[in-house]
Amino acid sequence: MAKREKKSLNFIEQIIEGDLKKGKYKEITTRFPPEPNGYLHIGHAKSIVLNFGLALKYGGKTNLRFDDTNPVVEDVEYVDSIKEDVKWLGFQWADKEYYASDYFDKIYEFAIVLIKKGLAFVDDSTIDEIKSMRGTPTKPGQHSPFRDRSVEENLDLFERMKNGEFEDGSKVLRAKIDMSSPNMHLRDPIMYRIKRAHHHRTGDKWCIYPMYDFAHGQSDSIENITHSICTLEFETHRPLYDWFIEKLEIFPSRQIEFARLNLNYTIMSKRKLLKLVQEGIVNGWDDPRMPTISGLRRRGYTPESIRNFCDRIGIAKRENVVDVSLLEYSVREHLNKIAERRMVVMRPIKMVITNYPEGKIEQLDIINNPEDENSLSRKIPFSREIYIESTDFMIDPPKDFFRLGPGRSIRLKNAYKVTCDDYKLDSEGNVEEIYCTYHSNSKSGQPDTSGIKVRSTIHWVNVEAAVPVEIRLYDRLFKDEFPDSHKDKDFMDFLNEDSLHILNGYGEVNLKNDKKEDKYQFLRMGYFSMDDDSSPEKLVFNRTVTLKDGWKKLQGKK
Ligand code: ATP
Ligand code: MG
Repeated sequence: MAKREKKSLNFIEQIIEGDLKKGKYKEITTRFPPEPNGYLHIGHAKSIVLNFGLALKYGGKTNLRFDDTNPVVEDVEYVDSIKEDVKWLGFQWADKEYYASDYFDKIYEFAIVLIKKGLAFVDDSTIDEIKSMRGTPTKPGQHSPFRDRSVEENLDLFERMKNGEFEDGSKVLRAKIDMSSPNMHLRDPIMYRIKRAHHHRTGDKWCIYPMYDFAHGQSDSIENITHSICTLEFETHRPLYDWFIEKLEIFPSRQIEFARLNLNYTIMSKRKLLKLVQEGIVNGWDDPRMPTISGLRRRGYTPESIRNFCDRIGIAKRENVVDVSLLEYSVREHLNKIAERRMVVMRPIKMVITNYPEGKIEQLDIINNPEDENSLSRKIPFSREIYIESTDFMIDPPKDFFRLGPGRSIRLKNAYKVTCDDYKLDSEGNVEEIYCTYHSNSKSGQPDTSGIKVRSTIHWVNVEAAVPVEIRLYDRLFKDEFPDSHKDKDFMDFLNEDSLHILNGYGEVNLKNDKKEDKYQFLRMGYFSMDDDSSPEKLVFNRTVTLKDGWKKLQGKK
């Protein structure tokens, strides 16, 4: 057993277990460090589940730290949404929220330490000049003409940078490392820039801001983060972070890189998601088509289904792409267990049961969730006039159409078998009403002596007790599997203009009293979640996912 457990450890767990065994740490501290420049998306969920999950598994804590070193794009709206989303996913961060901006004073002191050690200098070169002198990975860069300024001069200039004596962009502070290093990040990287921008927390206190690379590792160190887990693109930054830590002689957090989550048909850059919001392609960050946590929540995803998805895809060291149908599979699997069933007709057409007495109402029993052994049942009224899906009827059905047509019979779910005798067209030639006879000796749950053969069962809603519902059906936002991977085309070129369909249908009476945010399986139609746009006059439902299992099918093909 112990052996089997060992085998299933991912590589990060192996590292942590090794560190704990060696006695390097008694307990671990991880962190989730979002930049508050947008809402969290499903990729962040993977990082959240990983970081919080490790601290839960090995004992320890996880800090929520806002990496807010770039004042221009950050905002409190994002801070609030991030907190809400992490909590909703089911995680609790340690004691308080941390902010990289709380360390601006300390990071400024760190810069002074490096200047005093002769390891940092103020450079008057422009950004373009600095770029042009960087060299290439195979060609060494050139030393800046300001590289050999004295410690005194550097200290003086850096202080005056802080005091606002220089124009934005006129000077930077750089680390003095190695202009011929094969690792470009070590070629005298910029540590500080001058930027007169209002910060969402520090206001106008600062006109110089540390670069991400001179803030992130130090923030980890200040918080005594034992394992700083980040995505692969930071692997080449690690030597720089380690250099800063070594020269500053501060707590050495261990950085471990893993492959970020990529999903096909999905965009995950916050900048691009912001564009969809700003250009009105979607209705806000929480639009149910968005891959944001708030969008998935509104669409009807459960925290469990997202956590299960993250566990299922695992942790890899190499870039890969996960099929979006696996995400859909996860929510379908969870909702199948917890969602009560309801009957809702999305494209209604009226059926009149001509031999059923007028005014008679039968209250039929129907189970709420056949997948749940403790499930109760509810009553649904049956009477002479009902709605069925217009797609369940054809005037001239082909052989392989097993549902209703003239002269054909069908079972109405939990009710009776009916046979279609006739139908009526409206002035435009569309079917307006269907006329059927029912077979009283075919009632569900009782011995069927009707002798009528049917090939399928359809759902229905009683006309008199029907509740008007607006149904929002969603499709993928992008038509291309990898919308942002085309060299000469923009991801916006691949937008699916048909990603939202709104239908007006009818639901069974039992939907009326249900509280908001409830999740259902609408029989034969998929899983649905009530939207906040619902009013007493009209309930609004988002389709979370269809019933059809695209993922299993895909697996079967392999
Ligand atoms: P984006 O490109 O969406 O803006 P980001 O990496 O700039 O992403 P951050 O706010 O810096 O966004 O991310 C916070 C944390 O979430 C980081 O530790 C980052 O590594 C992690 N993260 C971001 N995107 C993904 C992803 N697709 N898969 C796994 N982890 C991710
Ligand atoms: Mg980032």
